Amino acid sequence: MDSPDEPSPPRTQTITGQCERCEWDVVAESYPAMVKAYQDHLRESHPKLWLRT
Ligand SMILES: [Zn+2]
Repeated sequence: MDSPDEPSPPRTQTITGQCERCEWDVVAESYPAMVKAYQDHLRESHPKLWLRT
């Protein structure tokens, strides 16, 4: 995954999460943080989906 040609600093890795059901997306500093934000989004915007997770 690491490329010597990649200009972005390695310590500022961010995770981007997207919702499959709408245009929502989020940028988080870690995978757990992204998951938490996504769960919060599901709960608020797609409560039926949230209940299924
Ligand atoms: Zn959504």
